[in-house]
Amino acid sequence: MSSAKKIINTVSVTPAEREAEVVISFSGVGKTFRAGAAVIQATKDINVDICEGEIVTIVGPSGCGKSTMLNLTAGLLSPTVGTVKYRNVPISDVNGRTGYMTQSDHLLPWRSVAGNIAVPLEISGMGKTERKARVDELAELVGLTQFLNSYPSQLSGGMRKRAALARLLAYDPETLLLDEPFAALDAQLRIKMQTELFQLSRRLKKTVLFVTHDIDEAVALGDRCLVFSGRPGTIVKNIEVPLPRDRAILALRKDQTYQQLCSDLWDILAPSMTVAH
Ligand code: ADP
Ligand code: MG
Repeated sequence: MSSAKKIINTVSVTPAEREAEVVISFSGVGKTFRAGAAVIQATKDINVDICEGEIVTIVGPSGCGKSTMLNLTAGLLSPTVGTVKYRNVPISDVNGRTGYMTQSDHLLPWRSVAGNIAVPLEISGMGKTERKARVDELAELVGLTQFLNSYPSQLSGGMRKRAALARLLAYDPETLLLDEPFAALDAQLRIKMQTELFQLSRRLKKTVLFVTHDIDEAVALGDRCLVFSGRPGTIVKNIEVPLPRDRAILALRKDQTYQQLCSDLWDILAPSMTVAH
């Protein structure tokens, strides 16, 4: 028997068994893009429920539809076939209950940290006094209180991520859609940011969809891991991660269950990661 069979528990848990409400539901979802004469089928047959408070990681090679899944959840795209529901209602417009963060932090260089964090609050029409209090609270949450008056160019990579995270949390979205947010960071900083994000998500009870092409990251952060593969891409494995809900991310490097699961996932994904010459 291969080691993959020993560790990997493909999910058969129902939402009722999780005792949590389904927040996001994909049912028979496929997405086809048309660009002129070209037709690109990005994804097919996506069927998955994401429950409240879950951190679900989405891992797979480039081009298999991971970002498309986030865009469908955010309401930036609509499915070609099937239905995407948010709290049991089909998504038909931009989904304001989600917050989106990508690899690029999109901080405004001419605004201070405080000014950047305040952007969504200004857009929402929040008054100045309340806004300042909220910006202070958010800065404290991400450890940037001392840097509120600094400008993005004066910040380290980690601080920029924290500022972007505070801005993302400003209007308190209940679901975070994170698309390879730490891909550009060096290994050490990446683990630090993973730890901070994990703790923050748990503390604020966020539901999180986290896209990565890094298997170690997917296992470290996920309660569940959706493995994407193929062209068009689909979920080939839906894996319950057998690690505690509260975990010390850094210590995982020495955890045997973690190491084994990473190795098993490598075996699953290796064929689709073969480089064509
Ligand atoms: P991933 O995030 O896994 O790398 P994507 O979801 O970005 O994959 O893309 C899946 C496929 O759909 C790719 O082949 C990509 O080129 C294609 N695609 C994504 N967005 C568009 C678009 N707006 N127009 C045409 N093709 C697209
Ligand atoms: Mg992508």
